[in-house]
Amino acid sequence: MATVPTTTLNYRDVHTRAGTLEVICGCMFAGKTEALLDQVQDRPPHRVRVFKHTVDHRYNPVRVVSHNRRSCPATPITHAIQLLEQVGDDLDFVAIDEGHFFDDQLPQMCSTLLDGGVHVLVTTLDNDCWGRPFPMIDVLRERADVVTVKSSQCGQCGQMATRTQRLTPIVDRVIVGGAESFEPRCVHCWTPPAGSPDQITRVASNTGPCVQQSS
Ligand SMILES: [Zn+2]
Repeated sequence: MATVPTTTLNYRDVHTRAGTLEVICGCMFAGKTEALLDQVQDRPPHRVRVFKHTVDHRYNPVRVVSHNRRSCPATPITHAIQLLEQVGDDLDFVAIDEGHFFDDQLPQMCSTLLDGGVHVLVTTLDNDCWGRPFPMIDVLRERADVVTVKSSQCGQCGQMATRTQRLTPIVDRVIVGGAESFEPRCVHCWTPPAGSPDQITRVASNTGPCVQQSS
């Protein structure tokens, strides 16, 4: 289990910063990346930068791609601190796709960007395939000006899906998989994977609570 960030919400976090933080979360196949692309395309391209984690190489390693194959250019990074190295004064909007892939420094890096007047959007899973929340994402949600929770349609019964079902076995204790490995499920049709989540090896070092590669 990842270490829960020790930082807590305080007055300064949300009342003196110059940028705004939006978190779009939910299960897989809920349209989170589509929502990101909508916001990106509405802004001047030279003022926007989109980031993704290097472990997320589905579709295209240097583009964020939705399940409907809409896409935009993206900068792959491995550590959250690299956000600060990549964002200059020329940007006023930063979007981070699949935030759950990142390490526990992501909330602090976002706060630094917000203090500098950058508006930040993070899309992320809210729970892993065991139904456990990502502690770092909870910190982000707590600090957000806007939290949008998106849902999908259950792959079994068609009702509203809020959970992600693992469909394929977890090999070598590492949770990696594409669209064929996951399915949105409602609370009634969802079941946790076999085995203890505590025995799972992370997909890469320094990926914090990110142990599930979505698609
Ligand atoms: Zn269902």
